[in-house]
Amino acid sequence: MPLRPLSPAKLWRRRLQHYRLEAARCRDCGKTIYPPRPRCPYCGSRNLEKLSLLGKKGKLVTYTVEYTVPAGFREQAPLVIGIAEIEGARILASMTDVDPEELRTGMCVEPVLRRIRSTDPYGVIAYAVKLRPCLGAGHEGGEGEAGGGSKGDS
Ligand SMILES: [Zn+2]
Repeated sequence: MPLRPLSPAKLWRRRLQHYRLEAARCRDCGKTIYPPRPRCPYCGSRNLEKLSLLGKKGKLVTYTVEYTVPAGFREQAPLVIGIAEIEGARILASMTDVDPEELRTGMCVEPVLRRIRSTDPYGVIAYAVKLRPCLGAGHEGGEGEAGGGSKGDS
């Protein structure tokens, strides 16, 4: 799936979504809606609450490693793009702090806000959400921390 560039105006409108990874959760059917919409696309309910997916742990659904990267991103090569499922929502983002050889689907990842070097003439994109492997989750299926991933019942 190709990444389309967004206009500065669109980025501005989406800044909360972008920087906080803002999503909505339907109070009626419990689905997570990302990007958020005023109405639940699954059941039509308007009874939604906002939530930020930032800092929530999820799992890597799929990823791609690009060894050929556009000019201006050379120092970031290889570029790893991942799709993570977090709270039921799917987030597409580049990955950081990861060795391509350690990548595997199903691994624990979490979205973090990272400063990025911008070649954009407006300087709009100074921060971006990236996915990184969960800290302290070196072993698959480890039941290490029980406190972290509570399911936020309301
Ligand atoms: Zn719903």
